[in-house]
Amino acid sequence: MLELPEAFTLARQLRDHVMGRTITEVVTNASPHKWAFFTGDPQAYAGALVGRQLTDAQAYGGLVELAAGDEALVFGDGVSLRLFAAGKALPAKHQLVLRLDDGRALVASVQMYGGLWLSAPGELDSPYFAAAFRKPSPLTDAFDRAWFDAIWDEAKPTLSAKALLATEQRVPGLGNGVLQDILFNARVNPRSKLAALSSDDRSRLFDAVKTTLAAMADEGGRDTEKDLGGEPGGYHTVLSAKTRTLPCPRCGNGIVRQAYMGGNVYFCPTCQPVR
Ligand SMILES: [Zn+2]
Repeated sequence: MLELPEAFTLARQLRDHVMGRTITEVVTNASPHKWAFFTGDPQAYAGALVGRQLTDAQAYGGLVELAAGDEALVFGDGVSLRLFAAGKALPAKHQLVLRLDDGRALVASVQMYGGLWLSAPGELDSPYFAAAFRKPSPLTDAFDRAWFDAIWDEAKPTLSAKALLATEQRVPGLGNGVLQDILFNARVNPRSKLAALSSDDRSRLFDAVKTTLAAMADEGGRDTEKDLGGEPGGYHTVLSAKTRTLPCPRCGNGIVRQAYMGGNVYFCPTCQPVR
């Protein structure tokens, strides 16, 4: 699942590799998928996009927006996006292909579920997009301590650390994946209630949100996800399905995996005691 660092990486790679290219062919819904979401009729996408030049790519939370003049495609967090060289065989199943004027192809395929929406840039009619578009990214200076404190102070004190950070779009693009290393770095247990956390805990959490996401973005996303070239990201996850049999890198004790609030959480019970 794409989260903020991977969306950031994909948008950067799209800007680096396909800007200025013209879309020559659009294929939508070649492999119908129950959980692939389009804006209106997918067969109308070609009429809107063919002949247009790609002009920009931006990440908003875990979403990637690829603009072609005054039209844009928004790819949801469950979409895998790959760039294929001219002449290279495309995967058998896909939900959207953009053929470019140099023969390369951008191919989007939906994993479990995902949106492949069409709208004017910045204007997709979706509450997720609106929140991600409007709120400051943790990768920018606008996401500062005052912004973080406001999120915290508006939340119920009975919320857990996981609920605060990874639900309700409080921090768009911060999902259950990147959450694990943020909480590990902050030494906060996902189940700890806000009311039980100290001001030191809060400070460490703010710092961990900023530094962990920045490291993940700088290194091209997490190693559990793939980039535009199909390569895993360069950020080595500390706590993920990939590392779950390894000891805690801080204290050497075992890592625990538990199902909690719609997804597995990983933590070190010694370094991250429940408060
Ligand atoms: Zn530990």
